[in-house]
Amino acid sequence: MKLFDLQGRVAIVTGGNGGIGLGIARGLAQAGASIAVAARNAAKNAAAVKELEALGAKSIAIEVDVRDEASCRAMVAKAAERLGRIDILVNNAGTNVRKLPQEYTLAEWREVLDTNLTGAFVCSQAAYPAMVKAGGGKIICTGSMMSIFGGPVMAPYGASKGGIVQMAKSLACAWAKDNIQVNAILPGFINTELTVGARKVIAGLHERVIARTPAGRWGEPGDFAGIAVFLASAASDFVTGAAIPIDGGYSTQF
Ligand code: NDP
Repeated sequence: MKLFDLQGRVAIVTGGNGGIGLGIARGLAQAGASIAVAARNAAKNAAAVKELEALGAKSIAIEVDVRDEASCRAMVAKAAERLGRIDILVNNAGTNVRKLPQEYTLAEWREVLDTNLTGAFVCSQAAYPAMVKAGGGKIICTGSMMSIFGGPVMAPYGASKGGIVQMAKSLACAWAKDNIQVNAILPGFINTELTVGARKVIAGLHERVIARTPAGRWGEPGDFAGIAVFLASAASDFVTGAAIPIDGGYSTQF
């Protein structure tokens, strides 16, 4: 359907080499977009590119560390140079350090905030001129259930994920005049490398998630393809500043 068609569009997906980011990249690729897979691990980036190329998408790998401003700006410049334009930015790179609040070092706090929030801001700022040049753009930010809820071992992560939703709203207000829509997605509990760690640290998490989720299962990276295509395409041109749970109903059930 033309409304969801991404032929000729170029997307950067930070954290696109695995988990939710790769699920998003696969969806955008299948809708016709060219993809820059941007993350630190070169081998994982290369494997993701191979997979996207097999789906028929033009795809490149860019090594980036979103904690580093120069690295973010170089990522955007390289994507624009090699793929010709930038229409879509997915701010998905993320990390977590799980501890009680009194146990964090300042370095650990900054590590999480720099990766999950400041990196997303810098990448958005860097991509803005290219989107203006393209006549508009779409920015998708990955939040979390921790954008809504708190948790005892989630202080910096929750701060970063609450912050990313509020940041998305402000970017949405500022850049609507440029035909740039900015939205957040709030994943529920999804089967990825990140949650393998969480299941080790938080006893009973696996069972609790299944019991509370109306859909009765953990999410999979493939569950993000549809929402990504919607938020990256003309289908969502009047949707901006929204924070959309992709959680099998987890956040709606008491
Ligand atoms: P993964 O660990 O599979 O993915 C994290 C991605 O971020 C990897 O591609 C990683 O690549 C990249 N990344 C991490 N740090 C950096 C950095 N400094 N610079 C560039 N890239 C970086 O986990 P998920 O797929 O689960 O996580 C993706 C996003 O979804 C995150 O923002 C996470 O907070 C969020 N999320 C996940 C949930 C879940 O249940 N899984 C729930 C809610 C939100 P590399 O290591 O190569 O740099």
